[in-house]
Amino acid sequence: MPDYNASKFYMKNSYYSNRKYIIIITFIIVGIIFALRLFYIQVIDRSYTLSANNNVLRYITQYPARGLIYDRNGKLLVFNEAVYDLMVTPNHVKNIDTTEFCTLVGIDKAGFIERIEKARKYSPYKASAFEKQISKEAFGYLEEKLYRFHGFFVQPRTIRKYPQSLAAHLLGYIGEATQSVLDKVPYYKSGDYIGISGIEKSYEEELRGVKGMKIRMVDVFNREQGSFQNEKYDTAAIMGKNLYTSLDAGLQAYGELLMAGKRGSIVAIEPSTGEILAFLSSPTYDPNLLVGRVRSKNYQKLSNDPVKPLLNRALMGQYPPGSTFKIVNDLIGLEEGVLFPSTFYSCQGPGTSPIRCTHNHVSPLDLKQAIQQSCNPYHWQVFRSIINKKEYGSVKNAYNAWQDYVTDLGFGIKYNSDLPYELDGNIPESEYFDKIYGKGHWNAMTIRSFSIGQGEILTTPLQLANLACIIANRGYYITPHLVRSVGSPKSYIERFTQKHQTKIHSQYYDFMVEAMFQVVEHGTAAWYKLDSIPMCGKTGTAQNPHGKDHSLFICFAPKDHPKIAMAVIVENAGFGSTWAVPIASLLIEKYLTGTVKRKDVEQRMIEFNMISKP
Ligand SMILES: [Zn+2]
Repeated sequence: MPDYNASKFYMKNSYYSNRKYIIIITFIIVGIIFALRLFYIQVIDRSYTLSANNNVLRYITQYPARGLIYDRNGKLLVFNEAVYDLMVTPNHVKNIDTTEFCTLVGIDKAGFIERIEKARKYSPYKASAFEKQISKEAFGYLEEKLYRFHGFFVQPRTIRKYPQSLAAHLLGYIGEATQSVLDKVPYYKSGDYIGISGIEKSYEEELRGVKGMKIRMVDVFNREQGSFQNEKYDTAAIMGKNLYTSLDAGLQAYGELLMAGKRGSIVAIEPSTGEILAFLSSPTYDPNLLVGRVRSKNYQKLSNDPVKPLLNRALMGQYPPGSTFKIVNDLIGLEEGVLFPSTFYSCQGPGTSPIRCTHNHVSPLDLKQAIQQSCNPYHWQVFRSIINKKEYGSVKNAYNAWQDYVTDLGFGIKYNSDLPYELDGNIPESEYFDKIYGKGHWNAMTIRSFSIGQGEILTTPLQLANLACIIANRGYYITPHLVRSVGSPKSYIERFTQKHQTKIHSQYYDFMVEAMFQVVEHGTAAWYKLDSIPMCGKTGTAQNPHGKDHSLFICFAPKDHPKIAMAVIVENAGFGSTWAVPIASLLIEKYLTGTVKRKDVEQRMIEFNMISKP
């Protein structure tokens, strides 16, 4: 009979001895893991050594050069220039001749103490900028002697330069990343630059490139002793991508010349592509003013200037469109079937009610004549017939339909183009009138000024130029944009290739093209028509509650297969035909023929100065 107890004992014994082995093996494994880890840390992974040796290694950020910016003909608009930041690690500053050092850097002793304190506040053992953006020349002088000043070293970086001093509002500027940016985006470190306005802002990620890091060994005498670990841990900076813009630098320069001494803006677009050819806000400033060490001083000066040179009027100026808006109402009237080219209305000139006419012309007149003469009473009838259209059942419904058309034509909306800080103007919702007049207590008469582009309607120069594009294209637009391609001249940007087809049929645009051609041939813009180029346009004079009327003109040329569409606004300059028309016509002549023959007109425009400077 088997001894169960013995068997039990044996099993128990074997169980304990197994457990003993397991414990021993576990200890051995853990020991091996520790040993391997230690070996890895001490022998293989040098990153621990890097931090342990922090005080003899110098970490130098490699700032990449920002991408370059070109115009549509390959002309360089923005490039980079080398500057140098003098860096300090406060705890390493020992036994230096402060007087000599101050002379070398060009500061006084108080300035020295102030800078050191500031750096110490940031970190006593980490390097930060002591003096920023030292020029190449000053750096050459400093470099030779710097080894004598422990705790200091120089870090190269670049700043922007503008060889043509053009298009300040469009290109924008860069500046140091603010605390809120530093908190939000880990890429940026204190002292890094970032695009603040213009395409420097909208293409920041493409332009900035990728920062690198250089590690250098430094001896106790502040002298670099070469690379660390054969540059194994160094990373190279990657230069930012170049931007290839659609701007025509020659046209832009000419526009800036013509607009000098005036308030206003010009937006010129190639209708078939939506590419911005010229885009200016006047008064402007030299973009080189907002670069480098002089930036903050100049920025203060520019922002305190009463003529507001920093304001981008082309994107942020919101103007009543005046008579240029009549063509919007006409297109809607035609599409809605309440207006026909053969529709006649009469006009009694200045005595007409409820809106008087400002021009002398035949009466009654048809649509084409009414556009040509910019007749106010005619356009009041057009607007009234839209708002009173019976099929809509109510004024409110008809107004909502009208508003849909206007929005479809690019008003009251932002385009989401590549230009930051765009404003959307104002096309009020019907609820707005319900609120101020009461539901059912307003009608076409209440908002009659909308018939001539006045009242609450506000538009930006960009939107008006886009309207010119829509008519030039007989019914569509492509989001206006400045950058054609990023990185290489051949790549293209998908969202800037899509057509926005409007709801209005092309035959009405064909009619409008003819009517706008007549405006330039025989109408309000006839004085400045071009012999060689058939041009289409519409003048406007926008009432301005704060002073003299604004002079407006939208146009495109040539009439068939247009190459350029434009909006010109000259603030407080009176009739559209007096200033906006000649400026637009000179720009078109320049762009399409390469030269300007009408030197007398050109001279008169350049000399006209509305901004009296002390
Ligand atoms: Zn009239």
